[in-house]
Amino acid sequence: MNLLELLRSQARRFRCPVCGESMADCGIKVLAQQGNRALVRVTCSSCNDENLLQIVIQTEADLSTEPARPALFDEPRPADGAPIAGDELLDLHSFLADWSGDLRELTEK
Ligand SMILES: [Zn+2]
Repeated sequence: MNLLELLRSQARRFRCPVCGESMADCGIKVLAQQGNRALVRVTCSSCNDENLLQIVIQTEADLSTEPARPALFDEPRPADGAPIAGDELLDLHSFLADWSGDLRELTEK
């Protein structure tokens, strides 16, 4: 399961912060992925509200997101950027599975 499939599988747990509809059918696009970070755009299927999420996957099963800033693209690429390992995806999955808040809470974390 790649990151996009993982996010899709968890999207139904979230509600749109604007219209409150379930995000089960929302559009998800991974705009960029670098090492343990990914920039994801989520588009509500009901009101077309778009949210940019910067997802950070850490090996300690501690995933956090914050609103993406344009400066993200200006950061130099780390020389040791590596693909997400299988066990890190499992950590992400377990974090999302335990998440009980809505999308707004996730983005403000
Ligand atoms: Zn919406």
